[in-house]
Amino acid sequence: MAPQGRVIVIGAGVFGLWCAWECLARGFAVTVIDRGGPGAGASGGVVGALAPHRPEPWTAEKAFQIAALRSLPRALAGIEAVSGIACGWRRVGRAQPLADAPARRRAEALAEAAARHWPGVRVRILPPGAMAHWIDPAAAPAGILHEELTARLDPAATCRALARAVARRGGRFLRARALAVAPGRVDSDAGRLSGDAVVIAAGADSFALAGLPGGAVKGQAALLAARPGVMPVISARETWIVAHQRPGGGVAVGSTREESWHDAAATDARLDGVIARARAICPPLRTAPVLRRWAGLRPRAASRKPLIGPLPGAGRVLLCTGGLGISFAIGQRAGAAIAALIAGTDPDLPEIFLPARAIPSVSRVTP
Ligand SMILES: Cc1cc2nc3c(=O)[nH]c(=O)nc-3n(C[C@H](O)[C@H](O)[C@H](O)COP(=O)(O)OP(=O)(O)OC[C@H]3O[C@@H](n4cnc5c(N)ncnc54)[C@H](O)[C@@H]3O)c2cc1C
Repeated sequence: MAPQGRVIVIGAGVFGLWCAWECLARGFAVTVIDRGGPGAGASGGVVGALAPHRPEPWTAEKAFQIAALRSLPRALAGIEAVSGIACGWRRVGRAQPLADAPARRRAEALAEAAARHWPGVRVRILPPGAMAHWIDPAAAPAGILHEELTARLDPAATCRALARAVARRGGRFLRARALAVAPGRVDSDAGRLSGDAVVIAAGADSFALAGLPGGAVKGQAALLAARPGVMPVISARETWIVAHQRPGGGVAVGSTREESWHDAAATDARLDGVIARARAICPPLRTAPVLRRWAGLRPRAASRKPLIGPLPGAGRVLLCTGGLGISFAIGQRAGAAIAALIAGTDPDLPEIFLPARAIPSVSRVTP
């Protein structure tokens, strides 16, 4: 396909890399700039749960997320084929220990709603001891909610795979910090870059670059040295346990949710609390040593929804950020929507994600 113009993508996290990949697939020439390299931000983490939101109330965003969860394995297979790097994706389902009768009633309501909105997905309530090798029955006195839609992947490996696939398809990478954005150009500490369209996918820093309200939620997570086999993702209150099949093994546990912090990269006693809760639930983690402690910033828009699409009043400057905890699930669809918008075709996107819908006032990026 003949190149249709150059797209500059700011940010080589999961959103920016999928944007780059999808733009290349549409015949655009692509330059990705990142101050730290692929996966240097939140996307280089350890957790990688791909879980659907609760099915009720059902919304267009949830339909988008479910469609994304279903189409992701095929898209990742394409990335793996081009890059030669495994992303660690597998649909393992999710098990949620239920602490009491109200939790069980909520789980029953979820199972009922799932039957309506997640066709073909089995959702069951299992007895407390049904997964005793993974979930201590004492942690699940009211049973275990089990659904078969959730998957997991290795976030850092997925970024490496995407970056290599983008490079192999002709995408250019530049290690630089974007300082200012205007239609058709990006000023960076490595000089000015010009393009036909600019995509701001700079994670939590996207909002400052676009002059929009928004920020981040800090999260801490850890990787423990255990090999529990092909285990469902376990989710309990503020605790996620994700077993990866990495060559070195490793079970990720996360995550804190912090509204303020002094050091975005620091880990502290809050992470110790997460690890202790995970160990209480999951017997294989009881004595497993901690391999790695990690912290990052989940980008969060003021609307608390992903922001995907053109900045109002800013020509061909587009935003792709705000994925909070679902960025890896929807990243490919977000990238495809951005590429479609640049190409002038239907983005197949819930309207609420469009900055023009979500942002009442115009950004400070000037035409
Ligand atoms: C503890 C924790 C656990 C999580 N668990 C999950 C999970 O299980 N499942 C899930 O889907 N999501 C999870 N998330 C959320 C997910 O990691 C993020 O939502 C996602 O990585 C955001 O991707 P992004 O591409 O928007 O941003 P980022 O990955 O942050 O990428 C932005 C990139 O832009 C670059 N950049 C920023 N500013 C500039 C600039 N001015 N110039 C040049 N480059 C710049 C950065 O270096 C970075 O590489 C978790 C997050 C945390 C913190």
